[in-house]
Amino acid sequence: MLEMTKYKDIDIAQETCYVGENETRVFVYNVDGLLVDTGPESRAEVYTNWFKTQAIRQVALTHNHEDHSGNAAWVRENLNVPVYLHPGSLSYAKENGAYPEYRHVMWGDRHPFDALPMPEWIETEKYKFQTLDTPGHAIYHNCFYEPNEGWLFTGDLYLGTHMLVCFFEENMRQTVDTIERLMKLEFDTIFCAHAGVIENGKVRLGKKLNNLKQLQGQVLEMRAKGMTDREIDAELGFEMDITSISGGEWSSYNIMRTI
Ligand SMILES: [Zn+2]
Repeated sequence: MLEMTKYKDIDIAQETCYVGENETRVFVYNVDGLLVDTGPESRAEVYTNWFKTQAIRQVALTHNHEDHSGNAAWVRENLNVPVYLHPGSLSYAKENGAYPEYRHVMWGDRHPFDALPMPEWIETEKYKFQTLDTPGHAIYHNCFYEPNEGWLFTGDLYLGTHMLVCFFEENMRQTVDTIERLMKLEFDTIFCAHAGVIENGKVRLGKKLNNLKQLQGQVLEMRAKGMTDREIDAELGFEMDITSISGGEWSSYNIMRTI
């Protein structure tokens, strides 16, 4: 069931997707005609029905994971609007998304689409977003920053203050560097693709950074004692259902080995 809410003049569509007993919420934002991400294809019907009620003039994808770009092909075919994506992901977007079955169950397919390279700034009638290169969760990942409003659309950079597992493509050292860079900007509210609108967003993001740096310190000490990342994970990591469901694509080991 699509839940539609508003934050100020931003329209928000929220859906919940499942694989086994794992559920994940997905938030898609329409800010003054700029659609930030398109949601997963497994919920194509509800999202595309919602798109039809929205005055969408352009689309910016935070990154090319299928829960964000799953309906980009529909948008390209049915709405005559540009879709912007990190230049590093453009050629991959032209191919069918290839990934394991559990992700097809949860997110559906990711059909090929043509996107335009992310410009440095994206303007709407009322707002002006600086597009920031924010690697970590994925090599090619963008956040969208509205300095006058103090808004930061963070894609999958935030998710929560405490990470138990991470995706195999993630690099925690890069995430730490990226968040450190973002903390120099002035913003209050973050718009997360899976946690929604967070009004004290800078504080929360700072908390995530501190937690990661604390863990980094612990891991470095343990490595210095000669422990392997597997041994460190056995001590500091977590066993989660999603690790076996995903065949290891999501694990705490992925955090330990990249932090
Ligand atoms: Zn992602």
